[in-house]
Formats: sequence, structure tokens, C-alpha cells
Amino acid sequence: PSPLGPTPKLVIDLERLATLPKEKAGALARYAATIQSQRGDYNGKVLSIRQEDLRSLAVIYDKSPSELTEELISWGVLDAEARRAVETF
Ligand code: C2E
Ligand code: C2E
Ligand code: C2E
Repeated sequence: PSPLGPTPKLVIDLERLATLPKEKAGALARYAATIQSQRGDYNGKVLSIRQEDLRSLAVIYDKSPSELTEELISWGVLDAEARRAVETF
């Protein structure tokens, strides 16, 4: 176990995501909407996603998982804690 505690979750800020231009964030927005629909989880301001889903998103965005994580942090969609979730990949 990490001395910093358990692996943090990947928590998408849905309100921030909704403000971003489609050219950047469209694929992520569609992916998040699909997960919400599968869960029946429509009321959240945030959405916790699987680590596995970040890997899939990285393929979609043609980046490594850590590069995509940095981009999502720079957009304000993930918080900086998410870096630790990706270190364990
Ligand atoms: P599933 O993968 O067969 O999961 C069935 C149920 O197990 C989920 O129902 C949820 O109650 C629970 N579950 C599975 N994995 C986890 C987990 O890591 N954390 C938590 N908290 N619960 C888990 P639910 O939420 O109604 O989802 C139904 C189906 O929708 C899932 O079936 C899966 O096929 C899909 N799904 C939902 N959320 C995600 C997601 O974040 N990523 C992916 N790839 N699929 C998802
Ligand atoms: P947490 O995972 O740290 O989530 C904290 C709060 O963020 C949640 O408070 C909720 O308001 C929001 N949140 C995080 N992820 C999601 C998401 O994917 N969808 C939505 N709609 N909101 C999200 P809440 O609901 O009072 O839950 C408090 C704690 O209870 C959670 O902390 C978690 O530890 C646990 N919990 C709640 N629901 C579930 C669940 O379905 N599965 C599991 N495994 N734990 C849950
Ligand atoms: P969480 O519910 O706190 O789960 C943390 C980790 O425990 C998950 O990380 C996964 O590795 C494991 N886990 C929890 N429940 C299950 C399960 O039913 N089956 C399996 N195989 N593993 C499980 P992961 O996958 O990275 O997911 C991170 C967070 O994303 C989860 O935190 C939960 O908040 C959310 N999530 C993931 N999948 C689902 C889902 O199908 N439905 C819902 N409602 N939430 C999900």
C-alpha cells in the first residue's frame, strides 16, 4: 500500500466538462454520457470512472494514459490527485 493512502479515484467534473469546446472534449463527453446512461446516474456533478476507462480514452485521444491525465487536469476536468491514480498503470 502507498504511504499516501489508497489509490485516488478518477473523478470527472461534469459541470466543467460541459463548458469545454466540442473539438477538445466531445469524445470524453460522449464517453461519460454513455457511462451515466449505463448506470442510470444522471444527477451527479461528478462521475467516478474506472481506471480501465482512462486507458480506453487514452487510445481514443491517441495519447498515453499519463499524457491524457495531464491534459484533463489542464482542462480542469480531473484534479491533480488523479496523477496518483495513473501512476499505478
Ligand atoms: P457490470 O460491469 O457487469 O457491473 C454490474 C454492477 O456491478 C454495476 O451495476 C455496479 O453495481 C457493480 N460494479 C461493477 N464494477 C464496479 C466498480 O468498479 N465499482 C462499483 N462501485 N460498482 C461496480 P451498474 O452500476 O448499474 O452498471 C451496469 C453496467 O454498466 C455494468 O455492468 C457495466 O457494463 C456498465 N458500466 C457502468 N459503469 C461503467 C464504467 O464506469 N465503465 C464501464 N466500462 N462500464 C460501466
Ligand atoms: P466518494 O466516492 O468519495 O464520493 C463522494 C461524493 O462525490 C459522493 O457522495 C457523490 O456526491 C459524488 N460522486 C462521486 N462519484 C460519483 C458518481 O460517479 N456519480 C455521482 N452521481 N456522484 C458521484 P455520496 O453519494 O454521498 O457518497 C459518499 C461515499 O459513499 C462515496 O464517496 C463512496 O465512498 C460511497 N458510495 C456512494 N455510492 C456508492 C456506490 O454506488 N458504490 C460504492 N462503492 N461506493 C459508494
Ligand atoms: P469504487 O466503487 O470505490 O471501487 C474501487 C475499485 O474497486 C474499482 O476501481 C475496482 O478496481 C474495484 N471494484 C469495486 N467494485 C467492483 C466490482 O463490482 N467488480 C470488480 N471487478 N471490481 C470492483 P475502478 O474499476 O477503477 O473504479 C473506480 C470507481 O469508478 C469506483 O470506485 C466507482 O466509484 C466507479 N465505478 C466503476 N465501475 C462502476 C460501475 O459499474 N457502476 C458504478 N455505479 N460505479 C462504477
